[in-house]
Amino acid sequence: KKFEDAGLRTIVTENVIKSGYKVPTPIQKVSIPVINEGRDMMACAQTGSGKTAAFLLPILSKLLEDPQDLEIGKPQAVVVSPTRELAIQIFNEARKFGFESYLKISIVYGGTSFKHQNECITKGCHVLIATPGRLLDFVDRTFITFNDTRFVVLDEADRMLDMGFSESMRKIMTHRTMRSEHQTLMFSATFPEEIQRLAGEFLNNYVFVTI
Ligand code: AMP
Repeated sequence: KKFEDAGLRTIVTENVIKSGYKVPTPIQKVSIPVINEGRDMMACAQTGSGKTAAFLLPILSKLLEDPQDLEIGKPQAVVVSPTRELAIQIFNEARKFGFESYLKISIVYGGTSFKHQNECITKGCHVLIATPGRLLDFVDRTFITFNDTRFVVLDEADRMLDMGFSESMRKIMTHRTMRSEHQTLMFSATFPEEIQRLAGEFLNNYVFVTI
């Protein structure tokens, strides 16, 4: 199976090929069609498996396929990541895959100026990559709402749990502005009981993927 046959928008496929990826990794083979179909998903996948592209490619592709007006402070896809380092990696991949498309991609994380990051947000972004605490900061100050959010990704959910972010994840997922029709994707290297419970809370009729 090739990226050309994965049902992705041409520009996204071109960007993947340009980044030197030849064939989809196993997690990409399985999750791209699941996400394209609109299903919620719980995926057990390690770092290094290609999990970032596994969710970014179909999300960017679907945003381009079914464009909706961009409103300031209303990201259409939100990716929550435990650490700033991981968030930056995801951000860089997203920019690579969204290259030469109109999609705007932003990042917010803690430990740095709120003001500068808010300037990026107020320019509007389709895709927002965020660490949980800083995201909730923006949400609490109503600079960000989830009214237009069609995709939510919880990346490395087990690590977020270990870092004490379970309540933050819950606050995000149950926020009063969160639409009922959003598609949620959870990634975790391990699948302990607490992650199973969170998956049960956050996901609807989900596909379980393990590689
Ligand atoms: P990840 O698991 O998302 O952190 O990705 C691990 C590494 O694999 C990253 O450096 C990616 O750029 C790379 N990668 C992801 N998918 C592919 C692919 N299909 N072919 C080659 N490299 C890939």
